Amino acid sequence: GIGETRAAALEMMGISSLEVALYLLPSGYKDFTHAVKISDLQHGQKALVCASVTGTGYPSRGRSGVSMLIARCSDGTGTLNLIWFNQPYMFNRLRKGEEYRLYGAVQLKDGRRYLINPLFEPVSGDSMVGIRPVYSIPKGIGISQSVLRGVIRIALDECGAEDLFPASIREKYSLAQRQYALENIHFPSSEAALRIAKRTVAFQELVMLMIGLSMQRERVRARTAHAISTDGLREKYRAALPFPLTGAQERALEEIEKDVRSGYAMNRLLQGDVCSGKTAVAFYCAFLAHANNGQCVIMAPTEILARQHFLSFAALFPDIPCVYIHGKMKKKERDEAVQAVQSGQASVIVGTHAVLSEKITYRNLLFAVTDEQHRFGVAHRAGLAHKGDNPNMLVLSATPIPRTLALVLYNDLDLSVLDELPPGRQKITTAIIPPRREEDLFDYIAKCADSGVQSYIVCPLVEENEDYAARSAQEMYELMCQKTAPDNIGLIHGRMSAEEKQRVMDGFCGGDIKILVATTVIEVGVNVPSAVNMVIVDAERFGLAQLHQLRGRVGRGSAKSYCFLLSGEDNERLEIMTKSNDGFEIAEKDLMLRGPGDYLGQRQSGMPGTDFSALFADMELVMQAKEAASCIAGESRYSVLYEALRASLSAENDNMSKNITYN
Ligand code: ADP
Ligand code: MG
Repeated sequence: GIGETRAAALEMMGISSLEVALYLLPSGYKDFTHAVKISDLQHGQKALVCASVTGTGYPSRGRSGVSMLIARCSDGTGTLNLIWFNQPYMFNRLRKGEEYRLYGAVQLKDGRRYLINPLFEPVSGDSMVGIRPVYSIPKGIGISQSVLRGVIRIALDECGAEDLFPASIREKYSLAQRQYALENIHFPSSEAALRIAKRTVAFQELVMLMIGLSMQRERVRARTAHAISTDGLREKYRAALPFPLTGAQERALEEIEKDVRSGYAMNRLLQGDVCSGKTAVAFYCAFLAHANNGQCVIMAPTEILARQHFLSFAALFPDIPCVYIHGKMKKKERDEAVQAVQSGQASVIVGTHAVLSEKITYRNLLFAVTDEQHRFGVAHRAGLAHKGDNPNMLVLSATPIPRTLALVLYNDLDLSVLDELPPGRQKITTAIIPPRREEDLFDYIAKCADSGVQSYIVCPLVEENEDYAARSAQEMYELMCQKTAPDNIGLIHGRMSAEEKQRVMDGFCGGDIKILVATTVIEVGVNVPSAVNMVIVDAERFGLAQLHQLRGRVGRGSAKSYCFLLSGEDNERLEIMTKSNDGFEIAEKDLMLRGPGDYLGQRQSGMPGTDFSALFADMELVMQAKEAASCIAGESRYSVLYEALRASLSAENDNMSKNITYN
């Protein structure tokens, strides 16, 4: 059933063979095994309900143009309101009096229960049964969940999945056989089977991660670097900055100087809380590179951040030739940039992971800087190192990583810590706003906008999604348009084109836009010092480290700043945010409450899907994987396996730079 069109669509998802399809891990699961009574529904929960439709309303269209259909149903324990946004055709599919299985996220509001965009089928149906995986599929490519399930079914039947680990390791760490694990990842036969399947896959990922890290360490140790002069450069650098460096920044610069003069390549992690001034340290590398007739590449995880670095570097050092490279450049622009890098005319290259593209060759790369490194996988970081002949590496991270984890993840790096904030920073006051006070808050934000005060409103998702009750950025944007002049408001999310994003960001930086409604694309690094309010919608959906990052977008100027966490839940986690502004303290608490998912999860390992990050929450498992990895690396009976793993990791690395394309 896979013709040319489907094959192309699958290719777009990175699925170029059945083999690959096996490892497309679900981003979550829908559990249709237990129905919940309407009277027992909890806010925020995803639940299956069996109920009869008691009435349907006609589709209506709100002022914002979003159409809405409401129906009501009952199971004898209570009444549940069903809402569909932008799906007026649902109307024809619901029959009054008929009993349905309904599945969706529950919202409790003003004493009423809602199910938003629920999936449904008559109780006689057979598709909403058992535990069903959900894959993340890009919108509009013409692949549905069920088509994908079909493809994966074929993959499971056709490709034998050979066991990665020998029985001795499987037994020791209670892992399933690979075939069983993959079967149950995609077609779980029970909750217990799914649990062990996930454990097996996560364990394997972790072992690969550990081995990848140790390979990187070996490479690093073997490297010797170019001699770089730092004489008198720090003074010159200081003179170019608009502020005196903090003691911590000075210390970091000194450590960098010591590294680059040592004859070995620098391999350093710069850790500092949000807003501690890591950029000024990173730019020093660029400055040093230029002064030594070489190049520095600075890689950032988002276009917004990369461009911001580019603009601020160019403003600080107008005489140092600098180019900006990202994935969505026009051909001419791109050719010029690539040429400037290749000829050595550009000293500083700032960009997204497009800087790793195979098509870009660096003339004389002395420094490679990765900003917000937790957003990149290990292979990305390694990819950057490959771009030059032993460049000095600096990676920046604002995610304060608890020590135990740092040991696992970063023992290949030397550490500099910015433990001092630039002077004059005020504590950001943080409050939890319950649903009944939201309207007041939005009115307040609108009033702020009218008087020229800037705010962010951050939402978990872009559009109404069948899976989430979370309010989308689009919806929030429309709401705010009713409260203040639409010109005051900008909307930004990951699916916009680079130009659109730039236009909105420029509007916000320049002060024309007063309210920036955004998804988490602004989570890291964005620096607009005039913004004062940070509103985070459905805050309970974010991890604490992420909330701390988001909150760090305000409090960057001299004005008193505020962070409002919207949440209907009594939440111990959110309370921590109101009590602490210290990223390390928050990270420790978060680790205790949730485990290390945010640090070790998908982003580090390259595994898609949030559901799996929960497994990384298991510190025990992480330590076991570390043990297994060193056992595989160290014992001769595993040498064949070890070599095979190393080979596959190297291949992955090579593919990475080939796969990064423009547009
Ligand atoms: P982060 O560590 O989160 O990346 P940035 O480098 O973006 O922080 O810096 C945050 C803000 O602090 C920026 O506006 C920057 O110009 C300013 N800043 C950095 N260092 C200093 C300093 N030593 N004194 C005053 N302001 C500084
Ligand atoms: Mg930063």
